[in-house]
Amino acid sequence: MATFFNKAFTLAAVASVMTSLLPVAANAAEVNVYSSRKEALIKPLLDQFSEKTGIEVNLLTGNSDALLARLKSEGEYTAADLFLTVDAGALHRAVEADVFQPVSSQRINQVVPEHFRSDDDHWVGLSLRARPIFYSPERVDPSQLSDYLSLADEQWNDRICIRSSNNLYNQSLVAALIEHHGADNVENWAEGLVENFARQPVGGDRDQIKGVAFGVCDIAVANTYYFGHMLNSDDAEEKSAAEKVKVFWPAQDSNGTHVNVSGIGVTKHAKNIDEAKQLIEFLLSEESQKWYAEANYEYPVREGVAWSETLQQWGDFKQDDISMDILGENNAEAVRLMNRAGWR
Ligand code: FE
Repeated sequence: MATFFNKAFTLAAVASVMTSLLPVAANAAEVNVYSSRKEALIKPLLDQFSEKTGIEVNLLTGNSDALLARLKSEGEYTAADLFLTVDAGALHRAVEADVFQPVSSQRINQVVPEHFRSDDDHWVGLSLRARPIFYSPERVDPSQLSDYLSLADEQWNDRICIRSSNNLYNQSLVAALIEHHGADNVENWAEGLVENFARQPVGGDRDQIKGVAFGVCDIAVANTYYFGHMLNSDDAEEKSAAEKVKVFWPAQDSNGTHVNVSGIGVTKHAKNIDEAKQLIEFLLSEESQKWYAEANYEYPVREGVAWSETLQQWGDFKQDDISMDILGENNAEAVRLMNRAGWR
């Protein structure tokens, strides 16, 4: 008995000494992700990655600004190796806050078009969403529609639903318009647009689409994936509302429809840089791209990956190929301009 205990004790002691001497070798490879996306939109892919590589992925989800504040306050002590968030404006905020480090990867650069990556390699786009016009086919003839600027035309007086100017999606849209048309023209446009509001901005993108369905307004501006979710919803009311509304791709004769990204970057103080890079490359593989885009009715960021059935029904369209960096750079000007125009 005594011998067994002694032996067991000795083995345990040796093991514990080895563990403390070789902490890296004893720990399983891992990578830690802070994500502003809901767990359901990313977790199954992370599990697949772990299964394939043996690298454990720890996921912390939360609000984008809250996670960014946390990254900043944790500084070099952060556990996060990757930060994943949506909208080029939010990614730009993270760059400004200096929480990313540049990552160069030929594999990444080969598959992701340049304008969907930050020009200093601080982050890379993972999926695309478009922000087109939605209209009531009963009350609007699509031939009346053209580009974003024409939404300020008098014919749309009291007929437009769009959410608040606090919303990053609208700020990024206005940032793109500033780049294409100049700030003065866009400010005039924003004043006209506000005149055409059917109501003071209220609710999220789904509420704008419902506004069209319920006759509050005749046209709306919203992100495509909300419409995709509504069309495929288990909620009969939401589904039938979406079925009363159609997509119009604006600016097809000029700069193309505004698109934005979800994106990911390696944190400045990442401890698992190699694993982080591997995970990004995995998320950009054809198979992952298909799943990741479909999970939220988004478009793959990578060309040549099939679109989901819902997206195919809306048809192909010309995308604005403005650099995502510009959306962030013009953000402050966009916000000021929208405020001056009275866009609440
Ligand atoms: Fe959204």
